[in-house]
Amino acid sequence: MQLLDGKATSEEIKKELTLAILDRKQNGKKIPHLAAILVGNDGGSMTYVNAKVKACEEIGFESTLIRYDESVSEEILLAKVQALNEDKSVDGFIVQLPLPKHIDELLITQAIDPKKDVDGFHPVNLGNMILNIPGFLPATPAGIMELLKRNNIETEGKNCVILGRSNIVGQPLSILLAQNTNPGNCTVTLTHSKTKNLKEICLTADILIAAIGKPGFVTADMVKNGAVIIDVGTTRVIDESRPRGWYLSGDVDFVNVAPKCSFITPVPGGVGPMTIASLMINTLRAMELKGK
Ligand code: NAP
Repeated sequence: MQLLDGKATSEEIKKELTLAILDRKQNGKKIPHLAAILVGNDGGSMTYVNAKVKACEEIGFESTLIRYDESVSEEILLAKVQALNEDKSVDGFIVQLPLPKHIDELLITQAIDPKKDVDGFHPVNLGNMILNIPGFLPATPAGIMELLKRNNIETEGKNCVILGRSNIVGQPLSILLAQNTNPGNCTVTLTHSKTKNLKEICLTADILIAAIGKPGFVTADMVKNGAVIIDVGTTRVIDESRPRGWYLSGDVDFVNVAPKCSFITPVPGGVGPMTIASLMINTLRAMELKGK
């Protein structure tokens, strides 16, 4: 078994981006500017946004964090999105999901200028992805594709089973892995909570990707010998014995699954850092596409 080290791979990408920014600085060019909107005080969301801001600082991007109280109105949020669309100093921005229930996430996502949509959630960018037209790929699926590519994981002709059909992970990933690209050319099965015979389907997987948010759901008896395992799940599990009172768990029973597989991503340190690296790549591209 070999660890698919997303942290190490993301550090490689961040080094490349740092050099690209130094080069831009030396040539008097603009530095990419990422803005992030965070609503409320959810611990997970705060951790993710802080990690994104920290990555910007490390690489030398400009960043702006805009925070709103949980009770912010949809109208105020839409007005801010519009202001960021028009702000020439901002190259790309994200609205951290999930949003409070009284706000329509789709409405907010659709209000973002697709050219600044560095999370790749806007329908225009998702449409471009399906047609394989250059645009912004959703950060987590793009991060997984980059992780596979940089670690020379063979995908052509492989059976890939994905658990979870969310708009931000499972569905886009199923499209990317089925495309005639490298990585890609997989035969993909996209599963969900209504799927029957899930264990049997998982056992057909050369590449198994879990994105459901259920700690330890994928057990050793669901995994074929030699499979590649990508664990997207990140759930905070309460554990008072830990200094923070919780730990982060993936969807895979790592201890028992790892000995059976060829490659496996850890949680933390697997897909999470690659998602952030993809966001940084998208932000640099957003600026370059404007011809700056
Ligand atoms: P989500 O919106 O939470 O949806 C969960 C998906 O899992 C749904 O499609 C659901 O099916 C499916 N599901 C639930 N129980 C299942 C079961 N027993 N068997 C098969 N499928 C089942 O998905 P998400 O937003 O992609 O999040 C999934 C996990 O990934 C979460 O832990 C999240 O924190 C994590 N995540 C991590 C990153 C990262 O960068 N590391 C990024 C994004 C998400 P139905 O559609 O039928 O309900």
